[in-house]
Amino acid sequence: MMRKRPGAEDLEAWVATAAPYEALPACLVGGCGRDWRPGSGICDLHARRLRADGLEVADAAWLDRQAPFLIVNQFSLAPLEPVVRAELLFALAARDERGQRLDPTAVRQSVAVLAGHRIAAIAAVQLGALPTRATANVDALLRETFRVVGAAFDRYNLERIRAADALLLGANSYRMFMGFWPAQAANPEAGEVHREFGEIYGRIPVNVISDSLTGDDVAQWQQQTTVIPRAPAQTYVKELKDGSDGDIVTFGSRVTWNALLVAGLVDELHLIVGANALGDGTPAFTSAANGLSLAETRRFDDSDNVLLRYTTGR
Ligand SMILES: [Zn+2]
Repeated sequence: MMRKRPGAEDLEAWVATAAPYEALPACLVGGCGRDWRPGSGICDLHARRLRADGLEVADAAWLDRQAPFLIVNQFSLAPLEPVVRAELLFALAARDERGQRLDPTAVRQSVAVLAGHRIAAIAAVQLGALPTRATANVDALLRETFRVVGAAFDRYNLERIRAADALLLGANSYRMFMGFWPAQAANPEAGEVHREFGEIYGRIPVNVISDSLTGDDVAQWQQQTTVIPRAPAQTYVKELKDGSDGDIVTFGSRVTWNALLVAGLVDELHLIVGANALGDGTPAFTSAANGLSLAETRRFDDSDNVLLRYTTGR
C-alpha cells in the first residue's frame, strides 16, 4: 500500500473538480508561441517591438516581417520570402561546408534587413542600395550570399538577353522587370552586369501577353512595349518568331511560357539548378513536358549553379 503524502487527497479532489485555465491563443507572429495579450493578438515582447516601430496595430504586413523571439545563439528564417529563405540557407550551407563559422547574430540581423525591405530574391537585388543598419558582419554575409547565388545566374541571363531581339513576358514579370531594370542603366551603385541589363531593358522591344495591363502600367515604357491579349497570343508569337532572326527570350512569366510550351511554340528551355532542394513551392511546369533533348550543360566557375539547356524537339 502506498503512503499518501499529507494533503494528497485534497489535491486529487481539487484536480477532479478544477477546470483548467482557458488557454490563450499564441502570438500571431509565426513561430512565436507565447501567449497573446488579450485584445492585441501579440505577446508582450512583440507588443514592445510594435511600439518601438511606432505602430499601434499589428497588421499583416508587420506580422510578416517579424521573427519569433530567439535566444542569443538561435536564428529563424521564418520572416523571409521563400526564395530568399532558400538563398540564405544555401549560402549558410556553403559556408558551413567550407568549415567557416556561422554567426547567429549576423544571420538574425541579416534576416531582419531582408525581411524589413521585403526582398523577394537576393539574386535580383542591389545590395549596395539597401540602406542597412548593418554591421560589417551582416554586410559581409549578405554580400557573400549574393555572390554565391547571384553572380552566375546574372551572367548567364545577360548572355541570353544580349542575343535577344525581343522579350516576351507575362504581366507580373513585366511590371517587376520594367519597374526595376531600366533604372539600373544609370545607377552608380549597380554593378557592371546590372548596368548592362538596365541598358538593354531600356531599349529592347517587349511583348507582354496580358488581359489585365492598363495604359498606366505601360505608360513609362510605351515606346518599346506591345501588349497582346491572351486570345490571339499564340498566333502573334508564331508571327513574331517567323519575323525574327535573334532569340525571343522569356524570363519568369511562368503562366505565359507554360501555355506556349503546350502549344508547341517554345524551342528551348534553359533551367538553372541551384544546389538546394526546397521540398515545396510552386511547380515550374503546369503540365508534362515530353520530348526534351539535352543540348548543353554548364557548370559555372564560382557557383554551384548548373545550366541545363533542353531543346523541345520542334
Ligand atoms: Zn510574440
